[in-house]
This record gives sequence, C-alpha cells and structure tokens, in this order.
Amino acid sequence: MLEREYKICCNCIMDSSDQNIVFDDRGYCDYCNNYKSIILPNWQTDAIGRNKLIQLSENIKATSSDSDFNCIIGLSGGLDSSYAAYVAKEMMGLRPLLFHVDAGWNTDQAVSNIEKLVDGLDLELYTEVIDWEEMKDLQVAFLRSGIPDQDLPQDAAFFSALYRFAKKHNIKHVITGSNFSTECCREPEEWGGYLGIDKLLFGDIHRQFGNKPLKTFPLTDILIYKLYYQMILGMKIHHPLNLVPFIKKDAEDELERHFGWQRFQHKHHESRFTRFYEDYWLPRRFGFHKRRAHFSSLIQTGQMSREVALERIARPEMDEHFLRQEFEYVAHKLDLTVNELQLIFDSPKKTFRDYRNKHWMIGLGASITRIIGNEKRFFR
Ligand SMILES: [Zn+2]
Repeated sequence: MLEREYKICCNCIMDSSDQNIVFDDRGYCDYCNNYKSIILPNWQTDAIGRNKLIQLSENIKATSSDSDFNCIIGLSGGLDSSYAAYVAKEMMGLRPLLFHVDAGWNTDQAVSNIEKLVDGLDLELYTEVIDWEEMKDLQVAFLRSGIPDQDLPQDAAFFSALYRFAKKHNIKHVITGSNFSTECCREPEEWGGYLGIDKLLFGDIHRQFGNKPLKTFPLTDILIYKLYYQMILGMKIHHPLNLVPFIKKDAEDELERHFGWQRFQHKHHESRFTRFYEDYWLPRRFGFHKRRAHFSSLIQTGQMSREVALERIARPEMDEHFLRQEFEYVAHKLDLTVNELQLIFDSPKKTFRDYRNKHWMIGLGASITRIIGNEKRFFR
C-alpha cells in the first residue's frame, strides 16, 4: 500500500494521521469546514443562549420528581465537568447531585478539585468506587488486546455507573460538561475513540485476555442507554456549556477565584492513566495525538494560535523522565512488570475489527443522530 503524502490543515493542526481527512482547495480540512458551516450557526452563547438556559432550567425543575436533587452531573475534577457543576448550581439555580466514579486513577489534583467544588457549591457528592481487582483485570485485558482504545474501561465505568445510578433513583436529567468550545473538533474513531460502550467488544476482549469474572463492574451497553434509558425511560442529556460563554482560560480563572480550583496542564489530566495513555501510549505506539484534536478545537474557537499549537504538539506534554516514571507506575499498579508492559507495548497493533463488536449498529445510530441534527460534530 502506498503511503499517503503528509498533509496538515492550514487553519488548524489536524493532519493526514487521520487517514480520512479531506482538504478543500484552500487547504482547510473538513473539521474546520464542519465547524464553520454546521457548528457555528447552531451555537449561540448570547441572549439567545441565555434564554435557552433559563428555559432548560425551568424545564428541569418542572419535570424532576426527586426532592433532594433535580439532576445529576458526572464530576471528574477536570475543567468541563467542574464548570458544568458551577453553571448548573449558580447560573441555572438547580440542585444537582455530583456523581464521581473512582476507577483507581485519580490524580491528587482531581480529588482536591472535587472537594473544593463540593464545599464551595455546597452540593452533595456521591462517589462510586469501582472494584479495583476487576478494573485492573479489564484494563490489562484491553492492553493485551492490542487496540488503540485503551480508555474504554474507564469510560465504561464512568458512564455506566452514572446511568445506572440515575435510572435506579429515577433521575431524569443528566447534565454533562460536553461542549463545542473545547471539543468541537472530535478526534476520529481510529485514534482510540470507539463510539460507545459495546458489550460485545468488551465481552470478547475480556473472554480472550481476562482472568477474573466481572461481577460488579458497571457495564451498560450503548443500546441500553440510548434506546431504553433515553428513548423509553425519557432520560435527558443536557449540554448547558453550549448555552453560556465558555472560554477555557476564563472558566479556569473563574473556578480558581471562587473555589481555589486548580487548572490542569492539559485536558484529561485528571486521570493518571488517561494522561499516560494520551501522552505516551497512543502517540508512541500508534502515532495518534489526541492533543491534535484538542488544540484544533481551541484554534477553531479562537482560543489558541496555530503557532502555539504546533509548538506544543512537537513535544510530549510531560517530560521524558516523568513519562518513564509513569510507565513504571502504570505497570506496577496493574501488577505487571515493566518488562511485561513493554512487551505489550511492542506487540502487534490491532483494532476493534479484530474482535467481535457491533460497530455497524453503533455507527448507524451515530449517523442517524447526526442527520436529525442532535450531533453537530464529526463522527468517523
Ligand atoms: Zn482544519
């Protein structure tokens, strides 16, 4: 197979490491064009957004049954979910339950941010702790599977636990920190961003490479939470950060000023595993830089210059010595020797297509969501 010629967008920094990227005559990529033609016209943070935020808040208050809280927010301690909690309480006047899932990889800074927000906003926090032996077994199984999507076990734990809790307690409204401002350029699926929680894929990988039965690990299939929870039970997912001005640096300053919340060096650094995975495992084993999409979102929304982004992407976010230490930390935490983790790192590369999955079905669902207009970002 011929190697494609290297090409990078002349507006953002997405490049041909996304093998399906398309450039127009000006050299703009399809992410930039999607932003201009689809996202921007549907994104109002002025008076229109303000009105929508008030309507949303009234709707949530009127349709929530529980008297203690009227919505739930999954809180990681990172910027987006922290700011969503702030907006929900202070701007929307809601009484959210803050829901945190401890999958064993919290950084001290994430824990400290969560504590500060809980105190400062005077909200209730519920923490679900994932059984570490099961978490570890699933993560090692995923590592041995050789696929790029190494954050699926954590993602599955976070979302499944939240949805299950919401269903059990009849909470109809889920508030997320998902937003256009810092996430309008979504990395392609090939870069380890499998589209949802697929029990068939988890089952096959764990059957081949796992050792312990998953007795308590929360695993709710995408079809259950999209079709049953959302369409039948009427659970609603809201994105209030798209209705208010949400500028990364300003939001960080605001949280710092009000709560002593501390900013992270980069997105997703609240989890020690995710930081290692995105800064070491994924770029070095597969050549995929999620930061390319993170920075491109900031460029498209005018929060970062292309020059600064190119400079940042040219080297890892963390220094070499630190990354080496993290390699050892991750190995030991997963009960592997450094050598064993290195052998896994050097093993043949696989994709989800090497395992049983129902990707076609999830892809079809994502296409429909995009056609009916509920999703403005690219999914590929
Ligand atoms: Zn671009």
